Amino acid sequence: MSQWTRNALKILSSDQLRTSDTHLYRLDIPALTGIDIYLKDESTHPTGSLKHRLARSLFLHAICSGQIREGTHVVEASSGSTAVSEAYFAKLLGLPFTAVMPASTTRSKIVQVERLGGHCHFVGHASQVYDAAEQLARETGGHYMDQFTYAERATDWRGNNNIAESIFRQLAEEPHPEPEAIVMSAGTGGTSATLGRYIRYAGLNTRLVVVDPENSVFFDSFQQRDNTLTSQACGRIEGIGRPRVEASFLPEVIDGMIKVPDAASIATIHWLERMLGRKAGGSTGTNLWGVLQLAQDMQKAGKTGSLVTLMCDGGERYLDTYYNADWVAEHIGDITPWSEQLALLG
Ligand SMILES: *Cc1c(COP(=O)(O)O)cnc(C)c1O
Repeated sequence: MSQWTRNALKILSSDQLRTSDTHLYRLDIPALTGIDIYLKDESTHPTGSLKHRLARSLFLHAICSGQIREGTHVVEASSGSTAVSEAYFAKLLGLPFTAVMPASTTRSKIVQVERLGGHCHFVGHASQVYDAAEQLARETGGHYMDQFTYAERATDWRGNNNIAESIFRQLAEEPHPEPEAIVMSAGTGGTSATLGRYIRYAGLNTRLVVVDPENSVFFDSFQQRDNTLTSQACGRIEGIGRPRVEASFLPEVIDGMIKVPDAASIATIHWLERMLGRKAGGSTGTNLWGVLQLAQDMQKAGKTGSLVTLMCDGGERYLDTYYNADWVAEHIGDITPWSEQLALLG
């Protein structure tokens, strides 16, 4: 093993030691007595989203697989949180990093990648990012990280403080430490893969429910057991929902899926802000809407218990979109019917 590799692993390990685990909030929802709802706050990672865990795992996996060495140019197809988190780790390791993104990518994401020393390479359309990233890596002798393929296998799913282990450890002294269900949305599908595998590994009775936004093929692909489905339309909930079934999406570990209207997701983050005093990204609304449906089902069945989901990123990134009434009216539509339903809960 080269001195660089040894040192790189030490840098990643000491960085992890300096950072702390994320909080698990318990929401207090007046209308849902006997049902405890928990929210794992992934927005507090140094790069602001759950992709911090993924980026660390992808770098570790690629270094230990001999694919990233001293000076390796790291390339990723991402216009979102993954590009920001990978730029952070590339900088830490002194590696050149390029994010391949559509020209339409929001300015703030570009600024964040560049502030971390990363480079942004633009293509005309979102569907071109995969091929362009692969080609750029090949031409420069670099490494294409390929989050959509490697997310499920780069994560240490049995433990090592992965998100599932962390959640169950934090629940240990709660009234219902074994939740009825964990609800998660899918972008790469990596987080739901880790949760689903861990639930089996730990022998738990918890169900894994995956929520999917409009214009995504995951829900239909799950129902029809068809992983060749594609869609032309663009999703509006950043970070989740895909126009193709990504390799990291593992339907075998999922117990059920719920389709969530985009307007319901956005209404839910506004409702959450009143409950918790915090803004969250759109995917957190999708997650929490799914949880609230399950909670109401439990209530109707006379059950008590707990439900868990994730706050995937914070809302400060979306002040111009999900938290801007004009933008919401134009791109999402009228959210009042959903807000009225939520208001009944508290
Ligand atoms: C990536 C992402 C998700 C989905 O996580 P995966 O593990 O990729 O399925 C959800 N929300 C946000 C904001 C994300 O960036």
